[in-house]
Amino acid sequence: MAIPDPIVEGLASGWKHIDASQLSQDQTLEADVVIVGSGAGGGVAAEILTDAGLTVIIVEGGPLKSSESFNMEERRAYPNLYHQAAAMKTKDKAIGIFQGRAVGGSTTVNWTTSIRTPKPTLDFWAKDKSVQGLSREELDPWFDKMEKRLNISKWEYEPNRNNQALKLGCENLGWHYTVIKRNVKGCWNTGYCGMGCPVNAKQSMLVTTIPAALDKGATLVSRAKVIELEHHNDKILAVKAQALNEQMQPTEVKLVFKAKHYIIAAGAIHTPTILLRSNLADPHELLGKRTFLHPTLLSGAIFSDPINGHSGAPQSIYSDEFVWKHGAASGELGYKLEVPPVHPVLIASKTIGYGKTHAALMEQFNQLQVTIALIRDGYHEQSQGGQVQLTDTGFAIDYPLNETFWRSVRRAFGSMAELQFAAGAKRVLPITEGAPYLNSWKEAKSAIETLDLGPLKTVVASAHVMGGCPMGEDTKLSMVDSQGNSHYYENLSVMDGSVFPTSLGANPQLTIYGMTARNATLLAERLKSSS
Ligand SMILES: Cc1cc2nc3c(=O)[nH]c(=O)nc-3n(C[C@H](O)[C@H](O)[C@H](O)COP(=O)(O)OP(=O)(O)OC[C@H]3O[C@@H](n4cnc5c(N)ncnc54)[C@H](O)[C@@H]3O)c2cc1C
Repeated sequence: MAIPDPIVEGLASGWKHIDASQLSQDQTLEADVVIVGSGAGGGVAAEILTDAGLTVIIVEGGPLKSSESFNMEERRAYPNLYHQAAAMKTKDKAIGIFQGRAVGGSTTVNWTTSIRTPKPTLDFWAKDKSVQGLSREELDPWFDKMEKRLNISKWEYEPNRNNQALKLGCENLGWHYTVIKRNVKGCWNTGYCGMGCPVNAKQSMLVTTIPAALDKGATLVSRAKVIELEHHNDKILAVKAQALNEQMQPTEVKLVFKAKHYIIAAGAIHTPTILLRSNLADPHELLGKRTFLHPTLLSGAIFSDPINGHSGAPQSIYSDEFVWKHGAASGELGYKLEVPPVHPVLIASKTIGYGKTHAALMEQFNQLQVTIALIRDGYHEQSQGGQVQLTDTGFAIDYPLNETFWRSVRRAFGSMAELQFAAGAKRVLPITEGAPYLNSWKEAKSAIETLDLGPLKTVVASAHVMGGCPMGEDTKLSMVDSQGNSHYYENLSVMDGSVFPTSLGANPQLTIYGMTARNATLLAERLKSSS
């Protein structure tokens, strides 16, 4: 049966889409609202503002791709759909960062786990970060709305074997675990969410809010990289962008976008980069600082039966046993336990060893279970995150990994090994250079205590970029208020993961959907009443 492709159908129906790679002349476009970025924040804002009757232009640096070209091949998906072909790294190369670059942003490639913002996170923001009006009770109606809109519900099928191991380990140890809610409709359970859903089941922005906005007359400009905002006094005057060709290289063509209001939703690395490059007011020098990543460790486990972690919903179980154990900001840093999809390129690039040792590990690929621990950063004094900095060629992310972090890494390796043995693993391999295969929990416990951990030795990854343009009411702590509106420019808002004052301790997409739904609705009311 042919799978309907909403993008192909929408384009045929006359959507206003400009692929900037095809332009040969400079352009100036105008609307009520210009939105930079089409991911979780940009997509939701676009639908709500067009629904309210406002004219909207969505400016996206990445290409417009659709299920027609999602062929489940890593070698094509990473260069086509990810920033820096999925090989982005922090300045010292110690952390690998995944971020989407296509219409739909990271939601086009994400793994569909949908979790409401944890209450301890919101309480911490209210108490320590001057955030107002974002308690769980106040946010829940917005989560309800977005869960309905994106078909978010508990995954009713059997977890794949990779997730089952996490579940079984938790059950056998008496640890907390939860069945994950996913934003899917008619999911084929292929396990290839990270390469763009081949069957349009994932309710990403690519197939939901962006098509809805385009159906109502919004304009989408793809392959247009925003360089800076033009501004004067307390007003933004224009967004300036550069057309990119099909190889994502700049062309001669320049684009200018003018609007009554501007929303920046380029994600937690690129929103601060654009704002820094624009030299916007930042009297307390907050922009780009406190960038959070949920730095993530991996533990491999060899089972005697096939795990086939590439197949089936990538994430369907998580454990919060260790996230809030010592409270939000006291004790050691907490970590959440999940599993990733296990695809060959992804895993080969995130494991250790060279030549024969690496080949030996990859030979056991189908028996390989992988557990991950996502460290909750940004709460403790000793966990201040990283910093996005401008460079001559673009940007760099400086994220120092300190002793407090490595102590938690050691504990996380211990928890993951204990869990994997409890689930029946034959051997466990903490993914850090020099670690041996460990044959029992007893052996692992003592070996992990003395593992030589450190940057470039221990594999650290992130698919959750957050912070860098924090929200709050205290201008010494924040760039935008608790509704995402700039403290300094009357016609500028930020609606994406950059506004988080800390990491979440949970996967971010639903938080961005819920908060943006609220903030864009309030903004639409304001813009409508002032017009
Ligand atoms: C592989 C992967 C798996 C993930 N899995 C999950 C999951 O299962 N659950 C979950 O909750 N979260 C997951 N996430 C994270 C989640 O998708 C993101 O937190 C969320 O999409 C961030 O939304 P955003 O609006 O801040 O940014 P994005 O969704 O990243 O969107 C930002 C957009 O802005 C565009 N942009 C950037 N710079 C410019 C510029 N200069 N000009 C024009 N456009 C620009 C980008 O190309 C991008 O399309 C995952 C992420 C990845 C990469």
